[in-house]
Amino acid sequence: MVSTDSLEQFMARGAVWLVLAVIWAAACVWVERDAPRVFRRAGLFRIFLVVLGTLLFLTTCQFGLRSLAVMLPLLPLALVPYGVMREISAPPEYQLLPRQFGGILQKAAQVLPIGRLLDKLRAPGGGGFGSTAAGSTEIALLKKNGQPYDGKDAHGLDQETSRAIRSVQGILLTAIQMRATDVHMEPKVGDELQIRYRIDGILQTISTLPGAAGRAIVSAGKVLADMDIAERRRPQDGTFAALYSGRKFDVRAASGPTNFGEKMSLRLLDSDGGIVKSGLNGIGMRESTLKTLRAIIHKPDGMLIVCGPTGSGKTTSLYAAISEIDVLSRNIITIEDPIEYRLDNISQTAVNTAADLTFAKILRSVLRQDPDVILVGEIRDKETAEIAMESAVTGHFVFSTVHANDTATTITRLLDMGIEATRMQAAVTAVLAQRLVRVLCEKCKVPYKPAADELRKYGIPAAKVTMFYREQGCPACNGTGYRGRTGIHELMVFDNAIRALLVGRPSIEAIRAAARKGGTRTLQESCLYKVIEGVTSLNECARVSK
Ligand SMILES: [Zn+2]
Repeated sequence: MVSTDSLEQFMARGAVWLVLAVIWAAACVWVERDAPRVFRRAGLFRIFLVVLGTLLFLTTCQFGLRSLAVMLPLLPLALVPYGVMREISAPPEYQLLPRQFGGILQKAAQVLPIGRLLDKLRAPGGGGFGSTAAGSTEIALLKKNGQPYDGKDAHGLDQETSRAIRSVQGILLTAIQMRATDVHMEPKVGDELQIRYRIDGILQTISTLPGAAGRAIVSAGKVLADMDIAERRRPQDGTFAALYSGRKFDVRAASGPTNFGEKMSLRLLDSDGGIVKSGLNGIGMRESTLKTLRAIIHKPDGMLIVCGPTGSGKTTSLYAAISEIDVLSRNIITIEDPIEYRLDNISQTAVNTAADLTFAKILRSVLRQDPDVILVGEIRDKETAEIAMESAVTGHFVFSTVHANDTATTITRLLDMGIEATRMQAAVTAVLAQRLVRVLCEKCKVPYKPAADELRKYGIPAAKVTMFYREQGCPACNGTGYRGRTGIHELMVFDNAIRALLVGRPSIEAIRAAARKGGTRTLQESCLYKVIEGVTSLNECARVSK
């Protein structure tokens, strides 16, 4: 028989026990979803929570509800370390606390040994790829014909191959999560396979695998890309695709022999054009330049040439520009080599030199399809340039690219190709030069007061500047100090002065001088603006202007 008093006590304790059990269950569900996004070894936290729940249950069985006095503070307290650890390790999009708190936690983690432990657990780059990485099922691989590869034995693959395909899945998953554009798998001296990712344009070594596992992975890549597995001496290429959280990535695989065995590179293309969806606002252009550029691309005829070296984001900017044109009222046709993004309501054609479908040939046939806007992927020869410029003066707006360092060089390049000055005068509206600079990591960038002579060197008035920032490196940016990239631009609009110059075979310096008079800001000036705004560093400007 229990007295009323103890019954009340019993019920109160029972209620507290229930609350604890609900907290525990809710924490389990949340960690289950949260841990794989943040930590590679998510399983560890699952086990920890199960042990915690079991302890709660067993302790109350053994000592009755009186043990709650100990359990009550213990259980929530035990969940705090997970919260702290995930907050330090999570990429910015998954962080729960405001940025300042995350920064303080990260600084603390760097001082204490916990930082090193977290580096091991953290999802990107942590752990080996050979094991079945947590969450590797989130990525699906598709063959060229769209048929899925699930890495299981249903495709008649032996166990070793299907295990290696799962490793490739793991490598691609990490690559996509780390925003890599290329994966390089290269055999090294000492029977090893080095895996490197290109992130923000810079190669980073991610992992090294033992030779046998490495060879299996390269073979699996060849299976996926439909290459001849037995052929190891000649370079081969192929394609497949990867689906990850609703995005489709085209993967271009290329294999080839090296001194130490076969290497493979995978290029990841966000083929749904995720990066161009935000239009020209997403390319990092200054507001004043953007206004001028927008006015140009909405003209009924003329030509915009984008220039820059390989990997300077020329194609992305062209697509971003085209995505701002009304596709329903204007007929847009592209000729590309190869097609990099698929866009709705735009007809896209790929160059195929083997079938004698060159830029010039396709361009001629495209003109019969009554286009308003034509994108010619690249101008490499006189013939293509001349047809493109002819179209630009006959009621079409033409977008194209030229492989040249800056706007002035593009003009001399075209003149050297043998294009007549009068043709260029009439056709070209503007030339846009572009580079991509890395954006300083918001979590770890370090402010400093630039020295007076440093400012003088770059011609920046000291009154304009309070602080510059330099890179440092933290877990959020994989120790590089940078996260993401943005564009710097030099837009040269063809005014009368520049048009007049063309006739006399101008030098690059003469063109630059005329452009400067006409208000063109150089790539370096565009970069310095980003330094003043705290977006990038002086080191990064020096790197890209090399
Ligand atoms: Zn950082």
